[in-house]
Amino acid sequence: MSFTDIKISKAIVDDYFRKLASSLELDVAIVGAGPAGLTAGYFIAKQGYRVSLFEKRLSVGGGIWGGGMMFNTVVVSEEASGILDELGVRYRETNDSLYTADAMEFAGALIYRSTQAGLRIFNLVTVEDLLVKGGRVEGLVINWSPAEAASLPVDPLTVQSRYSVDATGHPLEVVKTLCRKSGVRLFTETGAILGERSMCADEGEKFVVENTGEIAPNMFVAGMAACAAFGGPRMGPIFGGMLLSGKKVADIIINRLEEKK
Ligand SMILES: Cc1cc2nc3c(=O)[nH]c(=O)nc-3n(C[C@H](O)[C@H](O)[C@H](O)COP(=O)(O)OP(=O)(O)OC[C@H]3O[C@@H](n4cnc5c(N)ncnc54)[C@H](O)[C@@H]3O)c2cc1C
Repeated sequence: MSFTDIKISKAIVDDYFRKLASSLELDVAIVGAGPAGLTAGYFIAKQGYRVSLFEKRLSVGGGIWGGGMMFNTVVVSEEASGILDELGVRYRETNDSLYTADAMEFAGALIYRSTQAGLRIFNLVTVEDLLVKGGRVEGLVINWSPAEAASLPVDPLTVQSRYSVDATGHPLEVVKTLCRKSGVRLFTETGAILGERSMCADEGEKFVVENTGEIAPNMFVAGMAACAAFGGPRMGPIFGGMLLSGKKVADIIINRLEEKK
């Protein structure tokens, strides 16, 4: 076997640009590769829609890897165990209708199953702004994370999407930018971000699923971003709500896409 170094570089460049070019016009753009964003991406990709996910860090998985206080075991409620089954993640039942799974296996399965289903994931890409026309979100503005970290004067690129999902967790980064720059009135009680409340796992797990959905025209929230937007409690290192929230936002968006076929 013989190949030149330049052929290795060419293979990387060609393949990456094929992936990027096919992500410039999307059905769904997801921001944040935590459990909520990856689950949403898995279910949307499984239906054959054009969906890509942008993650600002080098590694994807968000808050999964560290478990609670770096104990890398995740806890999932009974209601979400079906999603673990679907992903092929093994788990153990505790005495309290809670299930534990290995955080490494959980993160690995989410990444593997979502990309196998057709989700395109771009790590090291920060969503720094949105494409907004007539008060409707029509896409994302992306840039390399190192460019942003170094405050380099590098212009971003734009990705067009029919629907966008803020799954950035506690910081709610995308919706915050939408409010700050475009003054869009949100579908919350006050029209503004309500902010996350103190910890209560039981309430938080229910709240995050109930409040997953559209927050501004064509813009959705899932996972901890939904708690931060709609004023729900944080829930600590329990992940069932994140999975159910990711599945719920996928179902809502898939229905919208089906209606408009
Ligand atoms: C650093 C960190 C600290 C956390 N601390 C706590 C805590 O103290 N208590 C607690 O209850 N939970 C905490 N969590 C979250 C906890 O693990 C959650 O239960 C769960 O991970 C939330 O899932 P999620 O999918 O909503 O978001 P996350 O798992 O938080 O994933 C969000 C992802 O979005 C990415 N992201 C954010 N902004 C952008 C952007 N502009 N462009 C592209 N990508 C972006 C992040 O890098 C991250 O990977 C923390 C998570 C993280 C990442």
